[in-house]
Amino acid sequence: MSTDWKTRTKLVHEGVRRSQFNEMSEAIFLTQGFVYDSAEQAEARFINSDPNEFIYARYGNPTTRTFEERVAALEGTEDAFACASGMAAVNGVLTSLLKAGDHIVAARALFGSCIYLMSDVLGRYGVKVTYVDGTDLNAWREAVTEETKLVFFESVSNPTLEVIDIRAVAEIAHAKGALVVVDNVFATPVFSDAVAQGADIVVYSTTKHIDGQGRALGGIICSTSEIIRGKIEPYMKHAGAAMSPHTAWLMIGGLVTLDLRCRAMADSALAIARALENHPNVERLIYPGLESHAQHALSMEQMNGSGGTLIAIDVKGGKDAAFKVLNALTIAKISNNLGDAKSIATHPATTTHQRLPEDQKALLGITPGLLRISIGLEDKDDLIADFKAALDAL
Ligand SMILES: *Cc1c(COP(=O)(O)O)cnc(C)c1O
Repeated sequence: MSTDWKTRTKLVHEGVRRSQFNEMSEAIFLTQGFVYDSAEQAEARFINSDPNEFIYARYGNPTTRTFEERVAALEGTEDAFACASGMAAVNGVLTSLLKAGDHIVAARALFGSCIYLMSDVLGRYGVKVTYVDGTDLNAWREAVTEETKLVFFESVSNPTLEVIDIRAVAEIAHAKGALVVVDNVFATPVFSDAVAQGADIVVYSTTKHIDGQGRALGGIICSTSEIIRGKIEPYMKHAGAAMSPHTAWLMIGGLVTLDLRCRAMADSALAIARALENHPNVERLIYPGLESHAQHALSMEQMNGSGGTLIAIDVKGGKDAAFKVLNALTIAKISNNLGDAKSIATHPATTTHQRLPEDQKALLGITPGLLRISIGLEDKDDLIADFKAALDAL
């Protein structure tokens, strides 16, 4: 709508398409198909695939389109394509852009399912993958060659919260003609300007902060019209991982409060990180918003002064101590989602990253005592008291 609008205004109004009833709230179009006025109109729709004229919900739906337009406005991209989950988004990007013989370079600290897709699935189709330490720019320089089709990384990595320099990696990739794909979940669309910093394609699992209440799976791919309509849509509309209109409607509701929620969660995360950093039973606390973080300055610059909504704590005493802390928490829940209104604590070594061999875990800093904590919307003083009590009890 208006490109001059600031984020919060866009998050409330962008993409609205009212029906003949002029309803105030975004309608949910629970319809798989659309009726054409004439045979000629049906023919024309199939010829001109216009994202604002609908044919079939696997291709697009008015509720899903509202969600896509609102996220594209937030992200500052020309277009976006919504899909059934974050992994459908990652898979869609990789499958629609790559072919046998292509080479990609990825940061080694990745969401487990992304590693599976790249190493196991793409490998079967003849795509070669090189993994690098995402924080080591020389490693990127060595790995990216003229053959490299794309680079892929999480701007803030899971679960050890390494911050990757989007601008610097994009410069290296673009010099060799490679596309830059950023999985921006941990940074959130509120704090990150990945596109302005050089990302060509940004993917989100909307399951996380965008829904924000742990209700539904979703994903979205943001990029130029050329990439979204020319490469992504032709694959996605046939491959079938469409976002359902009901999910899109939930996600639109999430967007309305996204900015407020992420800022409140990040403010709490900073206060909690400060309160726990020097606790005698904390070996190491990782939070990009603290000066002790290895890439604090980069994080502040790249994430608009925020450290984000997640904290990692290496508890003294290894797995036993980490389990005791988890079991003693009364407010934060033991689970593996993130970006939820409810604070969530995860033990990556035995859950999300269990399948990794021990040497890989060590390489990625996934120690036996490591806990990943997603800060929610509860009162920060209640959370500090909860974590302190659990750590004190060791
Ligand atoms: C959750 C997550 C995904 C996968 O998203 P789903 O919605 O669970 O499919 C991908 N990347 C990151 C960084 C995630 O946190």
